[in-house]
Amino acid sequence: MWKHISVERVLDALTSVLSGPAALAFVPAISLAAFWIGGERALVVAAFCLPLIFLGAAAIDARSDQRRQRRNPPGGMMAIDAFATELEGIFKAFTPGGADSAGILVALDDYPGFLDLHGNAAADHLAEQFGRRILSVVRTQDIVTRLDQNKIAIGLQPSHQLDLEACIQMAGRIQSVVEEPFTLNGTSVYVSCSIGFSQLSSAVDGRYEDWIDAASAALNEAQRNGPSTIRAFSSDTQRRSRIRANLRKEFEAALDNGEIRPWYQPQISTDTGRVTGFEALARWEHPQKGVLSPQVFLPFAEQAELMERLGQAMRHHAFAAMRDWDRAGIVVPRIGVNFSSDELRDPALIDRLKWELDQNDLTPDRLAVEILETVFSRRPDDVITRNVTSMSKLGCCIDLDDFGTGHASIASIKRFNVSRIKIDRSFVAKADRDAGQQQLVSAILTMAERLNVETLAEGVETPGEHALMAQLGCDHVQGFGIGKPMPFEKTLDWVAAHQNKVDGMPKIGRKTGL
Ligand code: C2E
Ligand code: CA
Ligand code: CA
Repeated sequence: MWKHISVERVLDALTSVLSGPAALAFVPAISLAAFWIGGERALVVAAFCLPLIFLGAAAIDARSDQRRQRRNPPGGMMAIDAFATELEGIFKAFTPGGADSAGILVALDDYPGFLDLHGNAAADHLAEQFGRRILSVVRTQDIVTRLDQNKIAIGLQPSHQLDLEACIQMAGRIQSVVEEPFTLNGTSVYVSCSIGFSQLSSAVDGRYEDWIDAASAALNEAQRNGPSTIRAFSSDTQRRSRIRANLRKEFEAALDNGEIRPWYQPQISTDTGRVTGFEALARWEHPQKGVLSPQVFLPFAEQAELMERLGQAMRHHAFAAMRDWDRAGIVVPRIGVNFSSDELRDPALIDRLKWELDQNDLTPDRLAVEILETVFSRRPDDVITRNVTSMSKLGCCIDLDDFGTGHASIASIKRFNVSRIKIDRSFVAKADRDAGQQQLVSAILTMAERLNVETLAEGVETPGEHALMAQLGCDHVQGFGIGKPMPFEKTLDWVAAHQNKVDGMPKIGRKTGL
């Protein structure tokens, strides 16, 4: 490879000298020398051949100019396919013990968060600055391409000096340049980036694709340990990335074969005591590990970008459960389903949702779309805003989940036409025994009443908390004190038993004056 480059460079230098204007100055001298050495015949040969040599050199020079252009196009970054071809060329030319190269992947941390917080225009500006900064720190011989708004790939020109230490230093330099504060509307904004790289020498027994995968695995590991982390590919990375790939496969298979399905937690009216809905909560019924809660698998599903598939599986089961309750004559007015911000970013969400409701003969008002308050309090991107308002227009109920933990503005409650506020468990816990807690719940309830939105208290565990919520005028309650999440099969008996209890008991609602 090194030899290949040296010859190439010498040729480059020679051709540019021969094709440049300076070369013309030597024409009379060369012709004269030819006449002195070889007589008239030599003079004639020189006169014929010199223009041909210059023409040839000019052609070679134009070709290498094109090559240089391909490496460093005016905007600075190569098209992705040209980048791949160049990188594959570097890979193929590698000989063990020869000059080493490295594939480096740089990704801005939490770009979706930045997008939510600052909006599309700012995110575009950030993406552009990100590109400029990367180009400012790599050498002109290195190759660079953009994989995504927030992700850039770099291929380093092979060099004998490029050992692990040099790669780490290079990654560190890139990181510090990218992490310089950005100016946005006159204020400084700080972003961080994660970097993963793979040296060519550490991936060379495999195929070209293995080298690229190795850099991806290193970036993946950096992001998991991030923010602002650098990771080199190693055999450990390989082992861990295999385990994760297996876990992903296992999770996908579990989604397909119904091991991941909702358990249902009842919600009841404080006024009548009757069931007003169930919330669908994801459970992984693992054949060996038992029932796993979302805390165990949601972070992983998010990283593996499987939230949309999880959401589809949850709705599939939850809507089927509604149909089955209807058929069994059990009154369940609504099913609450949690929507992650990844799902809300899907432009096809509304069409899919309409189709799913239609398939199960459900009207949209039977669905309560649960959205975390944090999704509203950040600045939701256009797709999220459009999806939420479309779901509301369609007739779905919009439940603001974990209310009190995420600083949603009153304006956003109105803008998204929120129909119900779910007061977070942290306000409800011990509210019957703690005056401070009670005051907070009262304030939230008063605000909700003024805004004309319904209320539900989450995490009601004791009869005391239940009674207080009823007394303060909260419309619905949900929590272990009413019923724990349960598989569908158990809901039929639970509803029957609950109904008997309600029919046989004096009401504990507001009207009893508790
Ligand atoms: P969440 O939406 O706030 O759901 C309520 C959580 O509180 C559930 O935890 C429930 O089991 C628990 N809980 C209910 N009543 C009580 C109580 O009285 N005391 C206590 N200590 N806890 C109670 P779970 O099922 O572990 O779910 C945790 C979170 O995972 C959910 O919080 C929700 O944000 C998320 N999640 C669950 N299923 C899904 C899903 O299908 N999609 C998405 N995107 N997120 C989900
Ligand atoms: Ca929820
Ligand atoms: Ca909640």
